[in-house]
Amino acid sequence: MCGIVAYIGQKEAYPILIKGLQRLEYRGYDSAGVALFNDGNLNILKRKGKVNDLLQFSKDKNTAGNIGMGHTRWATHGVPNNTNAHPHPSGDGDLAIIHNGIIENYEPLKKALKNKGHIFTSDTDTEVLVHLIEEVQRETKTDIAEAVRLALSQVIGAYAIVVLDQKDPTRLVAARKASPLVIGIGKDDFYLASDATPIIEYTKNVVYLNDEEIAVVDLKNGLEIKTIANEPQVPVIQEIHMEVERLEKGGYDHYMLKEIYEQPRTIADCMRGRIDSKNNRIYLGGIMEHKKRFQNAKRIIIVACGTSWHSGLIAEYLIEELARIPVEVEYASEFRYRNPIVGEGDIVIALSQSGETADTLAALEIAKKRGAMIYGIVNVVGSSIARLTDAGSYIHAGPEIGVASTKAFTGQVTLLTMMALNLAHERGTISESEYQKLIIELENVPNKIKELLANNEENSKIKYIASVFQNAENALYLGRGYNFPIALEGALKLKEISYIHAEGYPAAEMKHGPIALIDENMPVVVVATNHSAYEKILSNIQEVKARKGRVVAIVEQGDVHIKNIADFVIEIPKTAEPLTPLLAVIPLQLLSYHIAVMRECNVDQPRNLAKSVTVE
Ligand code: GLU
Repeated sequence: MCGIVAYIGQKEAYPILIKGLQRLEYRGYDSAGVALFNDGNLNILKRKGKVNDLLQFSKDKNTAGNIGMGHTRWATHGVPNNTNAHPHPSGDGDLAIIHNGIIENYEPLKKALKNKGHIFTSDTDTEVLVHLIEEVQRETKTDIAEAVRLALSQVIGAYAIVVLDQKDPTRLVAARKASPLVIGIGKDDFYLASDATPIIEYTKNVVYLNDEEIAVVDLKNGLEIKTIANEPQVPVIQEIHMEVERLEKGGYDHYMLKEIYEQPRTIADCMRGRIDSKNNRIYLGGIMEHKKRFQNAKRIIIVACGTSWHSGLIAEYLIEELARIPVEVEYASEFRYRNPIVGEGDIVIALSQSGETADTLAALEIAKKRGAMIYGIVNVVGSSIARLTDAGSYIHAGPEIGVASTKAFTGQVTLLTMMALNLAHERGTISESEYQKLIIELENVPNKIKELLANNEENSKIKYIASVFQNAENALYLGRGYNFPIALEGALKLKEISYIHAEGYPAAEMKHGPIALIDENMPVVVVATNHSAYEKILSNIQEVKARKGRVVAIVEQGDVHIKNIADFVIEIPKTAEPLTPLLAVIPLQLLSYHIAVMRECNVDQPRNLAKSVTVE
């Protein structure tokens, strides 16, 4: 949450900052602001609203300067307004700060600073930090880098910050703890940002700042890194590979729609190099390197949040069914605070698109401390989870910018399916023929999604169903087995982007409560592609119909029975049962998308949400 970007060099900073903020806007969009240093003056421009509102506001203002910083906010402390927007100046106006995270002990710090005469104008925790740095600077007479270091040693919480001191305008000071920060190293300039997307046009050389490190980028002395405990560090420069085009909408109205349509490609990318099609074998590097540990694992615990948690639930079905290893799926935020029983012999798998999810990261740290092997499945290369874990796999979905996750979800499910198959084969819990059959089917999934998307274009049935239900106030999503997590995911997608209250339930569980909600106004979306419990799900649909509920059923091509009783039917291509989630989720993504568009909601930036949840 919160996107931060900064520049120091010879170029005009403002266009770089604005473009960077637009790239980072997925991280937060309550307000936006920039601070620029030019001709002896520190100039702060900030506005409630989107980066575009800031652009409008700044049109006739002075935006010159070769050093500056920008911020797009997801408010934690203080409502989104012009005053609470970042950057925040120090009391004397010499310093400016941008911050991603939460200063948890801001209250006692604020009280102490007030007693020393500091006056605060915003409600943010961030403003306290910049006043603290100013106070330390005044008391210790040190330079800005040392003042930041000393101030941070008094701080409890999470942060990625950049500080500019107009008395020392040839450098920027940055620091991180539990919030991401990447440093781009140009020819004679530096870039700082929450992720690499604002940097890639300018340089491929980056340094990922580690937790509790401070970096100084100085036009004379270059890059210097030390820990908050004052130990010098040697910067590790890495090369990043990212295509700029993948950050654009590419002709689609929204990133979400583009990302839905990208799925045939992203799923194929996830499998590339991991499936040997000639011999029908799966090789997941991360697992093969730790074969023994996986083979002897007593238990796998999956920690995740939101959509990733739903992928985790599918993995529970897959791994237990195919590889016969007990799996538990936990909300990372609960796991980390409940003194979980975890230790050697356990493998803890973290699922996170961004690789920065604060709770998931913290859950992993606990598991690591207690001796478990920790494994990361993330999308963003070089992210904190990728760097913390003992082993892991990237899903290779490319940048996901729409806040509601689509292609990262199917990427995770693809990866977890390969993992379950790989483990099953290694452990001998799957027959050779079943193993080979599932691999062939998995390889066919991208083409089947292509077919599904093309059919949808042709008959625009999903759009029609969306138009029927666009004014619904509630919706129920039902599924069984592998498709129960898909029901949860379908409901979450609808909630997130159209603000219709929706609940996902295991189909049979409906009788223990939610059936009371069903009436003629209630859309009930049933994911009914199951082979094994077909009759059961058919009966569940009958139960809904008997109470006048309106049923939208997702069925396999060629279905005859459900077609006769459901009000609306969406067909997906046939596949093996463990792979149905990968296909069944696509029409649900599209249904939510079209409903949200019809309700004129901001699909890519739904209210109150942000993509990468880096605060608790
Ligand atoms: N705590 C800061 C604020 O409310 C930054 C929020 C964040 O990073 O999400 O302004």
